[in-house]
Amino acid sequence: MTHPIHHDSPTAEQIASAMERDELVMYYQPKVSLLTGNVVGAEALVRWNDPHSRVLSPSVFLPQAEAGGLLHDMTVQLLDDVVAACINVRRCAPDLALSINVAPNDLTSHAISSRIGSYLSGGSIQPHELQIEITESIVMDKFDVVLAELGELSSMGIKVLMDDFGTGYSSIDRLSQMPFSALKLDQGVVRRMTTSSQNLNTVRSAVAMARELGMTSIAEGVESIEQYNILIATGCEEAQGFYISRPMPLNQFIDFVKEDRHFPSSQIGCVHQAVFNILRYRKSLLDIAVCHALGSGSVAPSITDTRLSSSDHGFRAAEWYFGIGQLLNYHESFRAVEAPLIKLNELGSALQRELVSGSPSRAHSDRLRDIDNYSSLVVSELHRLESALLAELA
Ligand code: C2E
Ligand code: MG
Ligand code: MG
Repeated sequence: MTHPIHHDSPTAEQIASAMERDELVMYYQPKVSLLTGNVVGAEALVRWNDPHSRVLSPSVFLPQAEAGGLLHDMTVQLLDDVVAACINVRRCAPDLALSINVAPNDLTSHAISSRIGSYLSGGSIQPHELQIEITESIVMDKFDVVLAELGELSSMGIKVLMDDFGTGYSSIDRLSQMPFSALKLDQGVVRRMTTSSQNLNTVRSAVAMARELGMTSIAEGVESIEQYNILIATGCEEAQGFYISRPMPLNQFIDFVKEDRHFPSSQIGCVHQAVFNILRYRKSLLDIAVCHALGSGSVAPSITDTRLSSSDHGFRAAEWYFGIGQLLNYHESFRAVEAPLIKLNELGSALQRELVSGSPSRAHSDRLRDIDNYSSLVVSELHRLESALLAELA
């Protein structure tokens, strides 16, 4: 396989003619689900096949393209390529998603989102087939405009992924304001994860934070089996990197998909995340009680925000349980979680209602005791499930 090379910076004129001659092509790098071991999609990465049969990497020409005002037209051209690729890939794998990188500047006009909108309304692609990757670092200037465009895209059902998370620009505040459905952990963060426990804790926290905010976590730059295995253990949901495959031309990616390969996987990390979510849920309920007890009737609305119950099923742990967790239904300990989990959710909702309606505090402590009992039950079954999953790995 050819690897991209780096050479002296091309001029904007050279890049413009490369675009005219269709020398820019997309390579595709597979993404694997760490929960199922299946290939779930790919990231499209631009390459320049220059007239001397060299494959140039984007770091060689993207900065010049941006400085020369060519990036927007380039993104439109590459978007058309990726849409064509979606249509192609669908024939052998209808559930895969291809992601395209866009620069924040691409989103300061309405052009990209309206082009994607017409592809969707014209029926060329389904929303689940195309995703957007954006690095937040540069969003600073026209934050409001970019935010509105991202909102528009996600309202069309297009998932927006935050690229290079952990590179130092992304604040938690920004993160929660933007409609991201996934965090891509930067490859530097992934690389350092195996060098100290402090660095590993950064990854653990990022995975937990993504989950709390209702986002998926994706690790990029996964190069070794050690990194891959740690990511499974943390509950990170997807991985991408040379360990799985290098980026490759579309036809090779399609062959790769057709091989139907399965990579190592386990939901053991998700089970731990579920334990964590249960403890957080209980703590949120306690927080409401605390603020009521302290606050002579005035309590911030955010604390009783029903988004605490983020889905029909109640809370994050339940989203996992009634979602992909169901693949573990053959475990007795998994099935044993269901009844107390439902009960816990009912008790939590009842407590919230009672606190809001100002019922006597003695009733609250009874409720909290029941909540404690049920959350302990759920947690101990989840721990049993972790042991069962560990035995499965051996
Ligand atoms: P990115 O979006 O964070 O893409 C990941 C980069 O990491 C890619 O570099 C990929 O080839 C590389 N990579 C993947 N797995 C590994 C690994 O295991 N180890 C190492 N060391 N590297 C790995 P690439 O293709 O050179 O792209 C660099 C950056 O250029 C991308 O970073 C993205 O920000 C930008 N880019 C690439 N294609 C496009 C595009 O079509 N449009 C725009 N606007 N930007 C693009
Ligand atoms: Mg990317
Ligand atoms: Mg990245």
